[in-house]
Amino acid sequence: MRFVVLASGSSGNVSAVWNGTRGLLIDAGTGSSRSIESSLRGAGLRPEGIAGILVTHAHSDHFGRPARIFAKKYGAPVLTHRDTYAAACRRARDFQGMETLGHVRFLTENADHLHDAFQIRTYSVPHGTESAGRPLAFTIRCNGRTVFYATDLGTVPPYLIEAMREADFVLLESNYDEEMEVTSGRPDHLIDWVTGPTGHLSNDQAAEALARVFEPGHGKYPKRVVLGHLSEECNLPELAIAAIRPRLPGHVELHIAPRYEASAVWDV
Ligand SMILES: [Zn+2]
Ligand SMILES: [Zn+2]
Repeated sequence: MRFVVLASGSSGNVSAVWNGTRGLLIDAGTGSSRSIESSLRGAGLRPEGIAGILVTHAHSDHFGRPARIFAKKYGAPVLTHRDTYAAACRRARDFQGMETLGHVRFLTENADHLHDAFQIRTYSVPHGTESAGRPLAFTIRCNGRTVFYATDLGTVPPYLIEAMREADFVLLESNYDEEMEVTSGRPDHLIDWVTGPTGHLSNDQAAEALARVFEPGHGKYPKRVVLGHLSEECNLPELAIAAIRPRLPGHVELHIAPRYEASAVWDV
């Protein structure tokens, strides 16, 4: 399998995972479907090969217009929880016809789903209010390899630690630096939500979770970790790396997902 991040952060999230000519988008937030198409081609995947669009939750930086356009143009359904689809429909009427057109396939939480060549396992994650729908993290398996993807979560439940351990490739949120967040001058209610149990993961929380993933004594560990959804105002790549690098074994690769441009294409 291969994996690329096309955009990551509160301004929009899009990643793609593929095997041969078949792939899945993961999230399709704010941005244009044309820019996604050209980035996919640049990464080596024809947009026609997209078999579905996994959507973590209903916030517009994850479930945006490109999801609807892609589903229609390529017959690639949005794969998400029913509550997430309902929340997206409440936010924007545009999404309302997707179910009738067969452009959405509902996933249940904490369950396995087969879609095209991909075995998808969903995990519920604590994030947001009703406007988020029912947020999910995913593992995607194909051809004996496993990708783990979790962004936008306030805490890391123990079952996610196990899921990361069993993956070959992990993308995990590392949203904010605690100090930068609390001194940001943002409204108190926003700071409280971001740093609370249903907000986002700080660099230290991501570091703590990854340290548990790589605790000795387990049979399997990921080889590569990508940190995503870094806050533009309240984080810096070097702070995330400084918090997390020392907690990983030396041979594990660590990368930051770029905010606006495509990452390298990683072999999983
Ligand atoms: Zn987000
Ligand atoms: Zn969110």
